[in-house]
Amino acid sequence: MADHIIDLRSDTVTRPTPGMLAAMTAARVGDDVWGDDPTVIELQTTVADLSGKEAALFLPSGTQSNLAALMAHCERGDEYIVGQIAHTYRCEGGGAAVLGSIVPQPIENEPDGSLPIGKIAAAIKPHGPGLGTHYARTRLLALENTFNGQVVPASYIREAAAFARGKGLATHLDGARVFNAAVAQGSSLAQACEDFDSVSICFSKGLGTPVGSVLTGSRDLIQRAHRWRKVLGGGMRQSGFLAAACLYALEHHVERLAEDHLNAERLAQGLASIEEIEVTTQATNMVFVRIPADHCALLEAYLSEHGVLADVEPEARFVTHLDVAPEDVDAFVEVVKRYFASCG
Ligand SMILES: *Cc1c(COP(=O)(O)O)cnc(C)c1O
Repeated sequence: MADHIIDLRSDTVTRPTPGMLAAMTAARVGDDVWGDDPTVIELQTTVADLSGKEAALFLPSGTQSNLAALMAHCERGDEYIVGQIAHTYRCEGGGAAVLGSIVPQPIENEPDGSLPIGKIAAAIKPHGPGLGTHYARTRLLALENTFNGQVVPASYIREAAAFARGKGLATHLDGARVFNAAVAQGSSLAQACEDFDSVSICFSKGLGTPVGSVLTGSRDLIQRAHRWRKVLGGGMRQSGFLAAACLYALEHHVERLAEDHLNAERLAQGLASIEEIEVTTQATNMVFVRIPADHCALLEAYLSEHGVLADVEPEARFVTHLDVAPEDVDAFVEVVKRYFASCG
């Protein structure tokens, strides 16, 4: 194993930089369950402002942030409409149903992450007296941006959110990587969030902090989410140390996401020159490829012997981030080339 590990499994694997660690060490803290941690308050105010919302709430994870949001929007027996392969539905342990008593109504995602408006319309249940009592009450539309790295088209988001509002539904964005979307489309965070009542933003992905997500929305909604955060065990004490990392990331790690996007492009171009590999999509900091199934386990082991951590599957994803430099991309492509050359 080489000294320097190139880890392409996800952008969650970043380590705090010396500058970030220094900011964390220097943080002024209080007890956030008592509501008096100045650094958490500063982070929440800053993210609320940047996202163009009234209020914000710091939570330990994106999963908890999405769940607290769903529980703040929906009551027991309400329903939310969500993508069949959306993280919120598929990758969060079914928390909405398990812990929130909220009924998920999944809809097949289009490849670009959108949910066709006709299908949303068809999924909304009638309610009111009579037959309406048969159904869960459709309450919320949840979208995700970026989706598999792709920026969901702004025109679609606008149209879907307007449609949902017209039907009396609230809207939530799982914006785990919404900063990548904003940087890629050259918009502000507020523009990327403006069509939604609430947005959950991860700081432990491309922004490079060890922990943390922020939920933004109206003062009322955030107040309800705050109570659910406590119920879900997410009340933290001297969390200003963690919030300081997020404030540092806002200052130093947002614009540089463009470098991750360029590195992903470079990685896609590199892999495209290898006959056995088919690059299917590259968007923001993600590259998706097809790899012959009989090579996957061997290639993964070969990469690992040569200092590269990657999840190699027939449909594989490679992710660039703060700890991946252009030279790392080139080194990775070289190792893949050598592997296939060695197979003769
Ligand atoms: C990572 C991620 C989340 C939240 O995950 P946590 O690991 O709980 O922080 C939510 N949605 C998407 C799309 C994600 O990629």
